[in-house]
Amino acid sequence: MELLQLTNKGLYCALGDFYIDPWEKVETALITHAHGDHAHWGMNRYIAVNESEHILRKRMGEVPIETHPYGETFRMGDVDVSLHPAGHILGSSQVRIQYEDEVWVFTGDFKRDYDPTCEPFEVLPCDVFISEATFALPVYRWPDFQNEMKEILAWWMKNREEGFNSVLCCYALGKAQRIIAGLRELTDETIWVHGTVDELNHCYEKTGLIWPNVKKVPLESKEKFEGAMILCPPSALGSSWNKRLSPKKVAFASGWMRLRGNRRRKGYERGFVISDHADWPSLLRTVKETGCKKVYFTHGNTDAIVRYLKDEGLDAYDLKMPYDTEGES
Ligand SMILES: [Zn+2]
Ligand SMILES: [Zn+2]
Repeated sequence: MELLQLTNKGLYCALGDFYIDPWEKVETALITHAHGDHAHWGMNRYIAVNESEHILRKRMGEVPIETHPYGETFRMGDVDVSLHPAGHILGSSQVRIQYEDEVWVFTGDFKRDYDPTCEPFEVLPCDVFISEATFALPVYRWPDFQNEMKEILAWWMKNREEGFNSVLCCYALGKAQRIIAGLRELTDETIWVHGTVDELNHCYEKTGLIWPNVKKVPLESKEKFEGAMILCPPSALGSSWNKRLSPKKVAFASGWMRLRGNRRRKGYERGFVISDHADWPSLLRTVKETGCKKVYFTHGNTDAIVRYLKDEGLDAYDLKMPYDTEGES
């Protein structure tokens, strides 16, 4: 029995009559998390996990959102559905669908590494596993997150000594908060953030995640920044916003920084390898741990991992979806 199939609107469960992360207008949309490539505007009814609500409302406005706690089973048509932690960002969910004895799991975006801002990924035994594959190449192996945080702190302190501000570019939802929480484990120094990050921080606060001494860079002020750490989305660098942060050193925190060429091409002085997606070893480990008989990959580099697992004797396929992943990793 096919519990999910790819349609031109999104991944569809016919037995439950709902879509997961659809990109075209549909009646009922289960949303794995609030990133723009998964949560689209215009659905009649949204279903998500409790922890996602404030961020979804921030991004979607006043839309009908029905929320469930992690792990709670609810009936949709002929299937039982539940949402489980994906460890990607606050409120990120895997979707578990059961029909009679058959269980399918869709991961959404996920990671297995330490993240103080969200529940850790839960391994769900299943028959069919549909996994993201953003970084599914052997070259992608993440360094230890807390170690990378120490590197960021050392970079910041060195820049300060030399009279520079430290501008760290990162995705505003998820990555920025993970870095703030990670730095907060090491230092009480003020962390400045761009307005976009600040607005999302407020959504985190409503969910109970509050970090002291994090301040918004005011739009209009003569505030002088000296040896400061400033977090902002990469798009802010192109605006006049960052002029008063000079003299500055600029770095980028992303899984893409694993490849030195990416850093050089984008003109960053420093790259920190921090990703909210599973790396190659985590993807392989996770597929194995679910005990699935069949696996599909979507959302990125599907070819290499499909070939690798087929060679290992697993029933593996790719499922191409029109997602854009560049921005969020
Ligand atoms: Zn995401
Ligand atoms: Zn994504």
